[in-house]
Amino acid sequence: MKIELEAGSKTHEVTNQAPLLTNYNLFTTDRVLAEALDREGASWARPKLEEFGRLVGTEEAIRWGFQANDNPPVLRTHDRFGHRIDEVDFHPAWHELMRLSIEHGLAGLPWRETKAGAHVARAALMLVASENEAGHTCPVSMTYSAMPALRKQPELMREWEPRVAACRYDPQCRPATDKPGATIGMAMTEKQGGSDVRANTTMAEAIDFGEYLITGHKWFCSAPMCDAFLVLAQAPGGLTCFLLPRWTADGERNQFHIQRLKEKLGNRSNASSEVEFDRAWARRIGEEGRGVATIIEMVQHTRLDCLIGSASLMRQAIVQAIHHARHRKAFGRLLMDQPLMQNVLADLSIESEAATVLMMRLARAFDARDNDVSEHGFARLATAVAKYWVCKRTPAHVNEALECLGGNGFVEECVMPRLYREAPLCSIWEGSGNVICLDILRAMRKEPESVACVLAEIRLAHGGNRHFDSFISRLENDLTLEATEVEARRLAERMAIALQASLLIRNSIPEVADAFCASRLAADSGRAFGTLPGSVQFRAIIDRAF
Ligand SMILES: Cc1cc2nc3c(=O)[nH]c(=O)nc-3n(C[C@H](O)[C@H](O)[C@H](O)COP(=O)(O)OP(=O)(O)OC[C@H]3O[C@@H](n4cnc5c(N)ncnc54)[C@H](O)[C@@H]3O)c2cc1C
Repeated sequence: MKIELEAGSKTHEVTNQAPLLTNYNLFTTDRVLAEALDREGASWARPKLEEFGRLVGTEEAIRWGFQANDNPPVLRTHDRFGHRIDEVDFHPAWHELMRLSIEHGLAGLPWRETKAGAHVARAALMLVASENEAGHTCPVSMTYSAMPALRKQPELMREWEPRVAACRYDPQCRPATDKPGATIGMAMTEKQGGSDVRANTTMAEAIDFGEYLITGHKWFCSAPMCDAFLVLAQAPGGLTCFLLPRWTADGERNQFHIQRLKEKLGNRSNASSEVEFDRAWARRIGEEGRGVATIIEMVQHTRLDCLIGSASLMRQAIVQAIHHARHRKAFGRLLMDQPLMQNVLADLSIESEAATVLMMRLARAFDARDNDVSEHGFARLATAVAKYWVCKRTPAHVNEALECLGGNGFVEECVMPRLYREAPLCSIWEGSGNVICLDILRAMRKEPESVACVLAEIRLAHGGNRHFDSFISRLENDLTLEATEVEARRLAERMAIALQASLLIRNSIPEVADAFCASRLAADSGRAFGTLPGSVQFRAIIDRAF
């Protein structure tokens, strides 16, 4: 007997499932981001963000995100005739995502745009892009961040900056001179040490003025199909920064060999490789022996991007959670109408808002810091403080948001597992938690004016909330004392929360600011998300979020 199979099921009707969240504008539905864009000086970029938010939210772009992660990159060390090629094949969806982001200026906008607020505009674009797919934002971020380091070597800057500022993407592996644009990666971490780059063993041998041959390895080198890499190596004068291109000046493949690709917890669309340099041709950036001082310019920007990336994961997580709760019923009522779920969603919403407003305020400091000493001081310390705290909060936040979707949140057809696997990464990158906290102590010791700048920003909300006022008076007192290493995390956390509270008191609705202060600054506040006091206006907070 022939059994007819039909689409769907004959045994039951499918009900009470949330519809797919697609074809929505990631920017216009994010009131907090839109307000911050105006407040921090980039309202001129609104049309661009509206267009980008629409494109990123289309069914097609969301599908690219899934395809790029379901079909991870593949290493091809040799061609079929046995020639070494060291190329990585990516799914076409990866290239679509790269093209979309690069052509909308996520790497190049601040280096071509003369208007004030370009870093703010670009931060907002980056948040939106990363909500959909975080892996491809790694090379985008490194390309953006490489520019300040390259500026230390004017002839290299003249060569590479126009390529980055061109905002063009070409996936072909060929000499950068033949390409309309360029991407730039970085390779610092070696097997024996990542945080401690002074332990690098890779050697640089001078061959001509400013030109060197590099021999050694790197244990992590993400996006190895970039056109060039900032690399640290030991030159005769000490640890030095170099620009090592994939192709030499003669148009030959450089001696840059990809050994293997990492099997990673998350960030699976992106290739992270182990590489060896066998007398690879490179050009020096900055002086010999000044490698850390040179590359730190890049690191400051990638730390800002770690903050943006984490804020972005929180944003997408809370959007998915709210969307689900608005459509799913349990025990006869929508989840959204259940008091305890409202508490969880409101708590996650204020955490996400606090992350977004902090990263946007910091992006303004990146716009202003070259011409304003107080913004320079603020950026120096607040970048580390904010990166530490927001990245630390993200895994717990995404975990709680995932739980709002129940079992559906644990299934790979949903974006939540991808967000969850991505969530710990930004905390490791560009200074893991402890290393960032040690950097905070270093900034406080060597650049004490940076503490004054952060405190000045915090104090702007003085008088706005009683929990806040007593919290900052204790913090100010503690900041007058010399902190020890063991206390550094506690101090970093308190500075970050005080900054977030100050921004929310001044710029958000009272419901959000009061709930944040009552739950993050009061002595008897809860530990898990969903422990806001009962007096909080939950619906107002959730409706503001999405
Ligand atoms: C997916 C992925 C992609 C990456 N891509 C790149 C890349 O493209 N280029 C690149 O250069 N690197 C890259 N990295 C490497 C990354 O930057 C390093 O892993 C990171 O800097 C930490 O270095 P490590 O792994 O050597 O850990 P370690 O330096 O050994 O640190 C281990 C732990 O010890 C802690 N620690 C270190 N020193 C101290 C101290 N003094 N006191 C207290 N605690 C301390 C750290 O905070 C950390 O928690 C990537 C990593 C990942 C996971």
